[in-house]
Formats: sequence, structure tokens, C-alpha cells
Amino acid sequence: MLDYHVHVVAHGEYEYTREWVERYLEAARAQGIEELGLVEHDEFAHRIDRGLLAGLRQRPGLSPQVRAGLECEYLPGREEEIRRLGRELDCDFLIGSVHFLDGWPFDHPDHVHGWDLRDVDEVYAAYYRMVAAAATSRLFDVIGHLDLVKIWGHRPRRRSELEHVRPLLGVLRQAGTAVEINTAGLRKPVGEIYPAQVLLEALFEASVPVTLASDAHRPDDVGADLGAAVVAARRAGYRRVMGFVGRRARERVL
Ligand SMILES: [Zn+2]
Ligand SMILES: [Zn+2]
Repeated sequence: MLDYHVHVVAHGEYEYTREWVERYLEAARAQGIEELGLVEHDEFAHRIDRGLLAGLRQRPGLSPQVRAGLECEYLPGREEEIRRLGRELDCDFLIGSVHFLDGWPFDHPDHVHGWDLRDVDEVYAAYYRMVAAAATSRLFDVIGHLDLVKIWGHRPRRRSELEHVRPLLGVLRQAGTAVEINTAGLRKPVGEIYPAQVLLEALFEASVPVTLASDAHRPDDVGADLGAAVVAARRAGYRRVMGFVGRRARERVL
């Protein structure tokens, strides 16, 4: 079992201290999670205690093995900044995510009214255009919460979600970018894993690799519902998931 998406400072409300990080490690250990990806949102990269993180990454034989990642906000024009951040932190992996469309944080509870002002199909199209650009940039090892746009339960009417995602499949395969099976959606109004089962099946058919992610923003959510993520992966056909060391993917049997 592995969990490649855990936030220590969350949205800035926690400090990156040994005591606090240790609670995440304990939660992982208690669930038999062997690889734990500590991933801050890139806007909080400066809050990471780099000395502490370096020490945690060098604990051979100790479980969980700590991997260092960043969840980067993809926006065209940020490419150089993202590359620099990844290098500076000597990341094992980078997650590329889209949480903003034209400056609108569509997944943020304080901005959910923005949906009333827009056409849902157009939001979906804009979202997936941005995700496609993130994958095409080849900056990332993993695309975060692939169908996050469904978070509040809005569904497209003119084109299905699969039709929105289909053009992405070749891009992901060619770029060698993995998609995470992220269980945070189960804790959101949509009540579904990201990505939906039908999308996961299309990803499998397109030979796009997957990794596992709780997207925990507190120790209690480390490993949350990863059993359901494994079931979803296996049902789609997957028998392997990816871990990452030094920006290289390493297969693990599921
Ligand atoms: Zn995210
Ligand atoms: Zn996250």
C-alpha cells in the first residue's frame, strides 16, 4: 500500500514540525502504508522544513519510506517556476493540478456560487483543456484528481465526461504521466473517487499508469479509503501502481 498525496501544512494552517509530521507517519504505519508522499501545495513550498524532510527521506528500512513531492498549480507561463521548485526541493515526484480557471477557484467552497454564473459544459471544456496543457507540458509525474471539476456534483450535458477526457488519453500515455486514484472526492459533495470508474477504465485501456492518493490534509485522513481506491483500480484492470523515487516511476504490485 502506498499514499502519494499527503499535505503536512494543509492550506497553511499547520506548521511543518517533527511532532506534526510524526503524526502522519504514525497514521501511515498503523495502516501498513509503506511509501508516503509528503506533498505540499507549491504556494506553501517555503513552509517545508527542508532539513527535517531530508532526514525523513533517509531512514532506510523504516516504514513508511518518505517521498518528497509538490502539488503544483498548473498555469501556462508557470513552467520555469515549477521546474525550479522541483529542482530546489530535489523532489521524487511532481503532481500537476488545476484548481483555477481564469482566476476562479472552482473547487473552493467560498467560490461555489461562481458555478451559477457559468455554463457547466463550458467549465468542463475549459477545465480539461487546462489539464491537457498540464500533461502536454511534461512537467509532471502525476496528474492530480483528474476529474476534480465534478467536486460539487455539476455534470456536463452536451458531452459526457468520458468524451471530455478521451482526447487526454493519448497525451498522458505519450508523456508517460500517471494519474492518481484520489479518494478525497469521497469526502466532498460529489461523493466519488477521482477519477470516476468509467474514466479509470478508459485510462487502463490507454495504458496510462496510476498511483494512489488520499489527499489527506490532516493525519486522520492519511490512507483514507485507499482500500476503495485499490478495488476501483483492480476493477478497471490494473495490477500495478506507481511509486516515484528521484523523478523515476517504480512499479509495485497491487
Ligand atoms: Zn489538489
Ligand atoms: Zn492535494
